[in-house]
Amino acid sequence: MKKIGFIGLGIMGKPMSKNLLKAGYSLVVFDLNKPAVEEVVAAGGEAGSSPKDVASKSDVIITMLPNSPHVKEVVLGANGVIDGAKAGSIVIDMSSIAPLVSREIGEKLAEKNIRFMDAPVSGGEPKAIDGTLSIMVGAKEADFEECVPILKCMGASAVLCGDVGAGNVTKLANQIIVAVNIAAMSEALVLATKAGVDPESVYKAIRGGLAGSTVLDAKAPLVMARKFDPGFRINLHIKDLNNILETGHEVGAPLPLSASVMEMMQSLKVDGHGDKDHGGLVMFYEKLANTQVKKD
Ligand code: NAD
Repeated sequence: MKKIGFIGLGIMGKPMSKNLLKAGYSLVVFDLNKPAVEEVVAAGGEAGSSPKDVASKSDVIITMLPNSPHVKEVVLGANGVIDGAKAGSIVIDMSSIAPLVSREIGEKLAEKNIRFMDAPVSGGEPKAIDGTLSIMVGAKEADFEECVPILKCMGASAVLCGDVGAGNVTKLANQIIVAVNIAAMSEALVLATKAGVDPESVYKAIRGGLAGSTVLDAKAPLVMARKFDPGFRINLHIKDLNNILETGHEVGAPLPLSASVMEMMQSLKVDGHGDKDHGGLVMFYEKLANTQVKKD
């Protein structure tokens, strides 16, 4: 069985690493947050002293970090994975980062014969705990096939979308659809409320038709119950929208809807809502219309 290194034990990385332990893999872990490391060590992992140390003890090194700069620092920086990893080992970055940075990291690692794949996830903390994440992968086919048994310990599905970078392009597409859907739902529910129609009746009436969606079913009940604890924080979606717009500009794909939702989220951040769930986007529309969407 391959030895696995795991770096980044946050909301997502901690349960994902525990699922690898449950599946019988031996794990060396690292995070700047010591209590998180202690928790995974208590579950059977070994603590590494740096990304370099973790990499030197592993065949496969998984990273689950906030954004591109963190992954670059951990993989390519001082005492980084690149300094410890053996030739032939595989780095799997499961963070959601800019696809162009994934490609850059892949190229730097390839110079040392270290293989790389980007494998961001969708599903959030509950699915990270259950091991039922959706994993979207950018990799060489042979590297992907070799890692499927590992990915399947953390996800219900792992789909190869193309070469390195394709996983994060897919994740950005996912995040555009989620963000714009939440904005459309918010616009619709605020209109209904302002027009004097119970938003719950509207939701029940339309959820089975063409306007129905996973986003509508996940978020409309929470909006009407005024539950905005995360979930997926507005600040994290702003991070993804930054990567979406940057990538769109670099490849020549104008993204007017993403740009609009980005400004809505920026406004909520200014109002102190950055740590609330992205379903809280409805508050932007509520402020414009001076109303509140809730059950009658
Ligand atoms: P988090 O902030 O909870 O965890 C990140 C962890 O990385 C923290 O424990 C932090 O201490 C650690 N870290 C940061 N810099 C480090 C460094 N230099 N060295 C070692 N450790 C370092 O974030 P999260 O919610 O677990 O998200 C991780 C990634 O997964 C993000 O890219 C996010 O967009 C993506 N994601 C999150 C969710 C979600 O619902 N939370 C869902 C899908 C995808």
